[in-house]
Amino acid sequence: MHHIIIGAGPAGVIAAETIRKQAPRDEITLIGDEKEAPYSRMAIPYLLVGNIQEQGTHLRKSATHYEDLRINRVIAGVKSAQSATKTIVLDDGKSLKFDTLLIATGSHPIKPPVPGIDAEGVHNCWTLEDARSIMKLAKPGAKVLQLGAGFIGCIIMEALAARGVELSVVEMGDRMVPRMMGPTAGGMIREWVQAKGVKVHTGTKVEAITPGKPLKVKLSNGTTMEADLVISAAGVRPAIGFLEGSGITCLLGVLTDEHLQTNVPGIFAAGDCAEAFDKVSGKTIVSAIQPNAAEQARVAALNMVSHARGLKAQANLRGVTQINVLDTLGMISTSFGDWQGARVASMWKSPMQPRADT
Ligand SMILES: Cc1cc2nc3c(=O)[nH]c(=O)nc-3n(C[C@H](O)[C@H](O)[C@H](O)COP(=O)(O)OP(=O)(O)OC[C@H]3O[C@@H](n4cnc5c(N)ncnc54)[C@H](O)[C@@H]3O)c2cc1C
Repeated sequence: MHHIIIGAGPAGVIAAETIRKQAPRDEITLIGDEKEAPYSRMAIPYLLVGNIQEQGTHLRKSATHYEDLRINRVIAGVKSAQSATKTIVLDDGKSLKFDTLLIATGSHPIKPPVPGIDAEGVHNCWTLEDARSIMKLAKPGAKVLQLGAGFIGCIIMEALAARGVELSVVEMGDRMVPRMMGPTAGGMIREWVQAKGVKVHTGTKVEAITPGKPLKVKLSNGTTMEADLVISAAGVRPAIGFLEGSGITCLLGVLTDEHLQTNVPGIFAAGDCAEAFDKVSGKTIVSAIQPNAAEQARVAALNMVSHARGLKAQANLRGVTQINVLDTLGMISTSFGDWQGARVASMWKSPMQPRADT
């Protein structure tokens, strides 16, 4: 039996390890498009602060971990998937056949439609590669403009402050963390970070970025700011574009049932890319935090093994945790339940819609 996992983040790695425990003789292929040892994005802020080195972000520390477990690692992007023929196609043109498939491709940052967003000195804060670029530019005294004051934007503020940069935040919502926090909490976070020297512009859009050193950033309030580094933190969406035409149903994420199985028997999804069924609320939800990715991966993997053995699904997802805890420059805030302004997925929504979150 051949189990293929697309995505070598936390969900993909945990799924591969779980399958190996259950099925010592099956073939497992873990495909990821980043040229890194599998790592945890949530460790990036600690890397930026300097508390850990790159190796500290790696999910498993032994250099031979995957080899030892006989997990074939393939570094490539998956371009397309065909459920009818149980085939995936890689970006180098090779195709691979599977008996079960796990889609664990996570999310991609949304690129805001701003002229100049691809200029040198503009970066996301999503990958290890982004972190390296940020560390090169975020030197003491450097002017850093952060586009977006959502979840990721707030998480990395501590690290930027620790690097001694002059930080300005531009958020088009009327408050900080607008999806996660109401006006009172959003206002408290704003006052807290302003007292620590961060300049905050809410209700303001970045209209254009002019390339150069420094970059010139035009705002909708009529001002133009100079920046040595612009960090684009405008939200994320499930990385599922390659599934178009695959026969796998997608809403905001890949639609799954309580076993993490998609509409196609034998094909599963887990993690940030999955729209998972939450027994508690009776709804399907994309809840892009690592504990959800880990639990969904475990449940999906157990069911992949059952499917390969011709058995009924053995594991159920009990719920999707809708909790977020945020540390913004030392102020700890938390939100539970439905996020304000979060769109609820429904079967009537057209597939593949982007998700503007964080
Ligand atoms: C700066 C930062 C801080 C965070 N802090 C926290 C936190 O404090 N707590 C928390 O719970 N969560 C946090 N998160 C979110 C957390 O990192 C994600 O929920 C988690 O990474 C989800 O794991 P995943 O395996 O589903 O996806 P990912 O970690 O995104 O892994 C998916 C992998 O699949 C690859 N891939 C995508 N498309 C393809 C393709 N077509 N072919 C091959 N490979 C592909 C991607 O490149 C990636 O390597 C943070 C994220 C960031 C960026």
